[in-house]
Formats: sequence, structure tokens, C-alpha cells
Amino acid sequence: MDKDMKVRCPNCGHVPIRLSPTHKCQECGVFSHDWLIYDWDSFASVRRQHLKYNILIISVLVINIIALVMFESSNPFLWMLNALAIPATISLCLCLKDLRGEAKYKGHKVSVFLPWFMFLSGF
Ligand SMILES: [Zn+2]
Repeated sequence: MDKDMKVRCPNCGHVPIRLSPTHKCQECGVFSHDWLIYDWDSFASVRRQHLKYNILIISVLVINIIALVMFESSNPFLWMLNALAIPATISLCLCLKDLRGEAKYKGHKVSVFLPWFMFLSGF
């Protein structure tokens, strides 16, 4: 985690000047491994980046569908690929929702930095 990055206590919402080395909140005394990152600008830039990935993926899939129909392809892999439009669309909507939600922003987890398709490599 970046030293200059602000963090937020996942228990009480306290935002300390810096995260204590013991990972214990000075405000509520709760220890947590899971401190939220409290930095709207970095969160928004990550979400904008993911938004672009999703638009790119959906565009490629639209071209893929058009090509499959035009060439009357029966390649099952290429047809299966279109299923990726589902997580891409969901992710796109979540990105838009997050980017409009600055007022409701309460910090984020490190895991938001990974786009959804990174988890595909784990299958
Ligand atoms: Zn706390």
C-alpha cells in the first residue's frame, strides 16, 4: 500500500493521518488487516480505466457477433466468447455507478484495482 495514501478504518470510519504500523485504529482500537483505501481520485481513475476496458471488450464482441453471423460460423469457441458480454456489461454498469457516487464514497478495497477479467485466468 502507498505510504501517502489515506486509509479509512473499516470498523468506525476513522481516517487517520497515517496508518499505524500495528494496523490498529487509534479511534476505536480495532485491529484490521483490511483497512480501506480512502482516495477518491485514485479510485475514480481506476474505475475509468476499467470502464474503457469494458467498452473495448463489448466493442470487440459486437464485431465478433457480426462476423459470426456474416460468415455463418459454427466455431463454438467464438460463440462462447460472446458470453463475456455479460460480466463486461455488469462491470460497465458498476463502473458508471461508482463514478457517479463520489458523495457516497467511503473508501475502497485493494481488490478494486483488478478488473474482472483478471479472475478468468484463475479458472
Ligand atoms: Zn476505527
